[in-house]
Amino acid sequence: MNIDSIKNGIVIDHIAAGKGMQLYYLLGLDALDCSVALIKNVASRKIGRKDIIKVDADVPLNLDVIGFVDPEATVNIIRDSRLVEKKTIPMPQTVTNVIKCKNPRCITSVEQDLPQVFQLTDKENKVYRCLYCETKTN
Ligand code: ZN
Repeated sequence: MNIDSIKNGIVIDHIAAGKGMQLYYLLGLDALDCSVALIKNVASRKIGRKDIIKVDADVPLNLDVIGFVDPEATVNIIRDSRLVEKKTIPMPQTVTNVIKCKNPRCITSVEQDLPQVFQLTDKENKVYRCLYCETKTN
């Protein structure tokens, strides 16, 4: 596809270099049938190097995931080849069923039906903790 001529879709720009792949998988883009481009290490005047994701289809995405991975990323919504909205996504207070708790003794490891809920406990340092066992995401 010509990545510069998206008709209807979304362009996620200014993703911190190296986070594009994580965002790609957490958004579930690997499961989509439409054209998706992940461009890594693009030179950026603003942040040095950046990753860009382009989705050439009007698909519903969980935008909170973008705020969770990189609240500095810019989301551009394209309709009829025109930029109709440009925004950033603030860090969500909670993220549900986006990542899994890595604590093997966490209740969510045993009770597979429980939702995986993480809460923002330290906005400044971008710390999310498991709702059940308080294990940090990273
Ligand atoms: Zn946990």
